[in-house]
This record gives sequence, structure tokens and C-alpha cells, in this order.
Amino acid sequence: MSSTRESSLIGLIGDGVDPSLTPPMHEREADHHGLRYLYRPIDIGRIGRTADGVGDLLRAGRDLGFTGFNITHPCKQVVLGHLDEWSDDVDRLGAANTVVIVDGRLVGHNTDFTGFAAAVRAGLPGADLTRVLQVGAGGAGAAVAYATLQSGAAHLHIADLDADRAAALALTLRDNFPRAEVSATSADADAIARAAADATGIVQCTPIGMHHHPGTPFDPSILTPNQWVADVIYRPVETALLRAAQARGCRTLDGGRMAVGQAAESFALFTGLTADADRMRAHFLDMIDAGR
Ligand code: NAD
Repeated sequence: MSSTRESSLIGLIGDGVDPSLTPPMHEREADHHGLRYLYRPIDIGRIGRTADGVGDLLRAGRDLGFTGFNITHPCKQVVLGHLDEWSDDVDRLGAANTVVIVDGRLVGHNTDFTGFAAAVRAGLPGADLTRVLQVGAGGAGAAVAYATLQSGAAHLHIADLDADRAAALALTLRDNFPRAEVSATSADADAIARAAADATGIVQCTPIGMHHHPGTPFDPSILTPNQWVADVIYRPVETALLRAAQARGCRTLDGGRMAVGQAAESFALFTGLTADADRMRAHFLDMIDAGR
């Protein structure tokens, strides 16, 4: 951690990250703490690199005095082969989104899952995690499922159009959380309706609902008012699914909370300071409103 350093230099490594809201979120929060803090996107597509080159970028960053990096698609898994140390959670998840440089060593963390867990605590306090249905088993889904089980979910059902992907994720999760009951199916309408019938909460982890993929991944009329509904999508912050869920009386959590949660948790790892997640969320929502 670098709270005693005079300044911090952070990079975000991934494809298409130039428009990311994470750098301005960090920099604004650092301003509030009186830190000298620069956070730059390092868009591998723009500079003609591939995911395999993430190790070279990290080592160059270490040699150039960077404090740390956030890592995003498509580098979160491949980065593991270039770390000197990593947390147990990174080991279990098989993915890292944060690398802190400590005495020249590249130390990996995952704040996608801690960010989602923090988002649930902040945005859905007291949410009943007894039986959770998760739709979508991709990269975001893996972190969300891990967070949900670590937060105490007793039963987790994962549905994905790619049933093999859902089954593979369930298998890994059963190994990591042997006391929980984890099941998986395809995401056809009947399977989702069956799993939703006795779910206490539902998490949406597919790209359906984004500006470029409008709609809902399942028919929201299956929702009942006693259920909570979380979405990982944050462009738009209020998805069609969340609007429909609210209209049916459900408590909801938008994907902006997770995006801010991971940023706040990474900020703490980079600086040793506690970020004000509410303040970061207000800035995040301002940027979204401004069309950034
Ligand atoms: P991904 O491509 O790795 O996984 C998406 C999964 O959804 C795939 O397994 C796919 O088969 C499944 N899927 C697609 N349509 C479906 C449907 N109709 N029903 C069931 N399953 C379906 O993508 P990802 O990286 O996991 O990202 C998913 C979404 O999460 C994106 O919209 C991304 O912007 C968002 N995301 C948000 C945050 C955040 O901090 N809030 C972080 C990461 C990703």
C-alpha cells in the first residue's frame, strides 16, 4: 500500500478502456483526500497490444514507478501468469482485476467480487440471500456468484444460454463453497421461471439490457414483490429489467453500485485509505448523466 507515498500513478489495462469512468472516479476521490494521484487508461487495442502482452506492460509499469493497475477484459485471467503473489480469492476465482506493486512485486487482488458484495450491503441492506437465481455465467457472473456465496447465500442457481458454461461455473463454486447448494441449467424460459419461483433474489449478469443489447433476459412478469433484483449493467443505470422489477414492487440494485464498489475497493488497496463510496457514486452518476 502506498498511503505514505507522495504520489500515486495508476493504470487501467484492457481493450477499449479509453472511455472508462474508472480513472476519473479514482482521480476525483483522490482529490478529496488531498492526494497527488494520476490514473491513465492503457487501451491495448489502441497501442497495438494483445492480452498476452499484459505481463510486459505490468513489468514496464513496475520499472517506471507505477503504484498499481486495474486489469479488465480481456486480461483478467491471463494476468495471473505474471503475478508474484495473489490473494486466496484470486486463486479461487482464477481472475484478478487489481495489481498493486509492493516492493517491486506484482500482487494480485480481485475487487470485482468485493465490489459487488459491498454494493449489496450498501444498496440492498438485509437482502435475503437464502435462494438466489443468477442469470449469466460469464466474467461478471463468476465474480458475482463468488460474492453471493461468500456473503452467505445458501442456494445459488445459475442459468445461462450456454448451459455448459453455467455447469462449469457451478462446479468450481461447489469446490470453493462446499456447504452451499449450487445448481445450473440452460436459460430457457421454463428453467428460469422454475428457479425464480422460490428465489429470494435474482441477479442479472448477461449483457441484455445494455444500450446496445436492449430488452430483458427473461420475462419480468415472473417476479414477485418479495424478491430483490440486482443488475450488473450500468449503461444505462436503470435497465428495463430494473424498471419492470420496481413496477412489481421489488427492491432493486443497479450495476453502477458494483462499478463504484470495485473502484472504491481498488482505491483502498492502492492508497491504504478508505474511499467514500457514496461520494464516488454521486460522481459516477453525474458522469453517466453527462453522457460520458
Ligand atoms: P460475458 O460475455 O463474459 O458473459 C455473458 C454471459 O451471458 C455469457 O455466458 C452468455 O452466454 C450469457 N447470456 C447472454 N445472453 C443471455 C440470455 N438472454 N440469457 C442467459 N444468458 C445469457 O460478459 P461479462 O463480462 O460477464 O459481462 C456481462 C455484463 O456485465 C456486461 O453488460 C458488462 O457491461 C457488465 N459488467 C458490469 C460490471 C460492473 O461493475 N457493474 C463489471 C463487469 C461487467
